[in-house]
Parts: sequence; C-alpha cells; structure tokens
Amino acid sequence: MFFELTDLLTCPRCGPGFGLVLLVHEVEERRVTSGWLGCPNCRNDFPVENGVADLRREPEVSGAPRPAYEDEELSLKIVALSGLTDGRDYLLLDERLAHAAAAVVELAPELEVIVVRTTPDDSAEQHGISRVLSDTPFPMVEYRLQGVAIAPGGNRELVAAAARYVSTGGRLVMFDATDVDLEEVERAGLAVVAAEGGTVVAERKSDPVVVVQLGKRS
Ligand SMILES: [Zn+2]
Repeated sequence: MFFELTDLLTCPRCGPGFGLVLLVHEVEERRVTSGWLGCPNCRNDFPVENGVADLRREPEVSGAPRPAYEDEELSLKIVALSGLTDGRDYLLLDERLAHAAAAVVELAPELEVIVVRTTPDDSAEQHGISRVLSDTPFPMVEYRLQGVAIAPGGNRELVAAAARYVSTGGRLVMFDATDVDLEEVERAGLAVVAAEGGTVVAERKSDPVVVVQLGKRS
C-alpha cells in the first residue's frame, strides 16, 4: 500500500472519525510491504502483510466475494467516466471492479487506485495499487476521494457508503446500477450527470452539509 494512504484509513471498529497510526516494518519506494496499523482509540492493531492492509474485524468469517463485473472496456470506462487522468488523485474500486485495477493504472499512471476487497487475492504489491481488506465497505475518512467506482447491483447500503467518501468536485461511477441505486445516489446529495443502461456518473457539486450537534447551553 501507498505510504500516504494511512492518512485516509480509519478504524473499522471505531468508525470514520478515528484515524490509524502506521508502524512500518518494511517500506520500498514509499510503499509499505509490512507493518501494523494501530487505532489509538480502541487499541486494536491491523496487519499490513505483502503490501495488503487487513482491516477486517473478523477475517475468519468473511464470506464469498461478490462476483466480478465484466465489461470488455471496463478499465477505459472507469478512467474516462471518473474524469481522473492527471494529478496525484485517489480512485477507489469496489470488489466487483477490482480485476480492472492493473489496466486502470496502465491507462492513468499518476493515479493511486485503492482496491477494497472482503477476501484476499493472490496479486503482488504493485506501483499505483493499494490493496485493503475490509468487511465494512470502505474504512476511510469521509469526503476525501476524488473518484469512487462501484458495481452495486441494487445494493442501497453500498451506494450510500460510497457516496459519503466522494470529495467536493469528485465523482461516483456506478456500473450494474439499478433504479434503487440511482435513487440512493440522489438521496446522498450527489448530482447525476450521466445515466445510461446500468452505468451512472454522479458528482458532488457542493460541500456536504454537516450536521453539528451542539452541546446543551447552561
Ligand atoms: Zn479503533
């Protein structure tokens, strides 16, 4: 995983408000191949092994991975629709799109692609791809990713979670999206800029409305 990704990862037990601290064992060219991610709040440690950050809460019970979403031009579509071609941007891919990561990085070498899966795969650490294992959809700081691409297939919860990670001006790209997913993305405050078949591009046009709970006045 990319060293600086640590700034975006959060504790899967404590939630999005709780960042993790990295203890490095091995690092090569700003990529961590071995170490620990620790939560200062709950004191749990999560391993980084072979470059993969394992943020699963219960690794032994993770079920079967969701089936890959197939499209001959998937990597090209992900790059084009996310609009991320230059600059050091982050693009998150969900498990169903993970197989396109290497081709995406080839098309857009400046990107850092974050691949979040529930079960390990056998790919090796590679420049431009940070692999994270998680049994929650995205253990990350909210409103910070310029691009998020998912294939929800009628998974309202996944859409709601993904939308929360899109920064202002950032995009959520969906493949295999149903009417339910489209409805959810609008509910999440993103503007749908294109929708054709099951492919949807939505953008966060303005800063999210953050509800601040005020303390009792004395
Ligand atoms: Zn924690």
